[in-house]
Amino acid sequence: MAFETSLHKLEAAKTEDSRVRERWLEDLRAEREREEEHWRLWRNEHALRNRFAAERQEKLAWEARELTERLAREQRERMERLAEARRELDERRAKEQREMEERERRQRSARQQRERQEGLEREALLQRQARARSGTTATHLLAAWRGGLDAALSNHAKMQAFPAPPALPCTRPDCPDRSETDHLLQACDCVIHRAFQDAGKEALKRERNRWHPDKFAICPHAHREEYQRMANQMFKVINDLYEKAT
Ligand SMILES: [Zn+2]
Repeated sequence: MAFETSLHKLEAAKTEDSRVRERWLEDLRAEREREEEHWRLWRNEHALRNRFAAERQEKLAWEARELTERLAREQRERMERLAEARRELDERRAKEQREMEERERRQRSARQQRERQEGLEREALLQRQARARSGTTATHLLAAWRGGLDAALSNHAKMQAFPAPPALPCTRPDCPDRSETDHLLQACDCVIHRAFQDAGKEALKRERNRWHPDKFAICPHAHREEYQRMANQMFKVINDLYEKAT
């Protein structure tokens, strides 16, 4: 009995041992699996982490490259815009300069033209005034002289001064009178001509007759010959006009 009990105990202990051993082996296996699982997880995580870091690195590098290129592009565009603006400014300045020079040239030209024109007009006005003055004066003088002739020629016997026409300057460069040396009148034939140019044929006939040298034959002796020669000059010019008158 004791043996059986012992055997039984022994077997029980053996079974218990075996159970303990199996449990222990099981624990060991489980422990190993946990460890392997742990390592697997760790490796996965590590790999993930590495990949993530690599991708992140790549992304950062790409962004940095993009940023650098964008900055360079913007810088280039800014420089181009600046150059363009400078070119436009230069062109505008050059254009303004050209326009200003052109404006000044035109103003200068217009001023010179105006001054030339004013000079010409002034000169023309002076000439006109001088002509009008001398013309008017001459006409007045000749009219006054003719107006006084009736009285001057009313009494030859008492004549103390020959009623000579005013000694106006001759305006004809080819005056036929200039070569004559025996003229005593200071006025040339042109002046006599002018004094009677408006007279009609009858008036010319009357004038011619009263300047006939014979009318002066009764002048005071001291002047007679001189007055007759002067009258002769008058007579010849007026006779000429009379013969040409229609
Ligand atoms: Zn003359």
